[in-house]
Amino acid sequence: MSEVCTTPAVLILLGPPGAGKGTQARMLEETLGLIQLSTGDLLRAAVAAGTPAGMAAKSVMEAGGLVSDEIVLEILRDRMMQPDVQSGVILDGFPRTDVQASALDLLLAETGQGVSLAISLEVDDEAMVARVAGRHTCAKCGEGYHDTFKRPTNGACDKCGGTEFKRRSDDNADTARQRLATYHAQTAPLIAHYAGAGVLRRLDAMQDIAAVSRDLTRMVEPVIR
Ligand code: AMP
Repeated sequence: MSEVCTTPAVLILLGPPGAGKGTQARMLEETLGLIQLSTGDLLRAAVAAGTPAGMAAKSVMEAGGLVSDEIVLEILRDRMMQPDVQSGVILDGFPRTDVQASALDLLLAETGQGVSLAISLEVDDEAMVARVAGRHTCAKCGEGYHDTFKRPTNGACDKCGGTEFKRRSDDNADTARQRLATYHAQTAPLIAHYAGAGVLRRLDAMQDIAAVSRDLTRMVEPVIR
């Protein structure tokens, strides 16, 4: 793994589905020039491309479970070898298990690095099911919308005017509950792992998107300088 590029800052966003990891990671990418690295996005791309990893992952993702550590780590390593990650990365949806957290620590240690900051987005479970079950995105530009909280004006995307919208197949109430249970069983224990490493910060992610973004930026800015 010596070919892995050196990354100046490695930030982790922890939190259950619907906590806003993707939204906030995209905002940090735009404002601070960090690279969002979402294992969920990488896996969805593998599913769409019909690769062997994607074919193995598809049914697990639709059931709200976790894809095997082996597949996820391979996909993540490939992505970490690309030169753009040298601007610093925000890991969104990774790590999700003890094995993944240890593998990340080892991978970073090879280049004398460690996790710079792990931010836990703290939210109420029941609100998450409602958030996840109503969300959809503009098929053209990816802008996020919600059936209840943020509807596109006159049926067209407020950002690019697109009229086609898409929903993830795992964004329904039943799968959202399963994903929450998976989060509490396998991922929430990582909060203690990063607290022990002295890099954990907690953030109230029940606030509106702009307030979360403001608080997050305040936490991240000193670390990437
Ligand atoms: P996300 O887009 O982060 O909500 O991820 C969607 C789905 O992809 C999850 O419910 C898992 O099935 C799978 N997935 C994403 N990241 C990981 C990971 N780090 N480990 C295992 N499965 C993952």
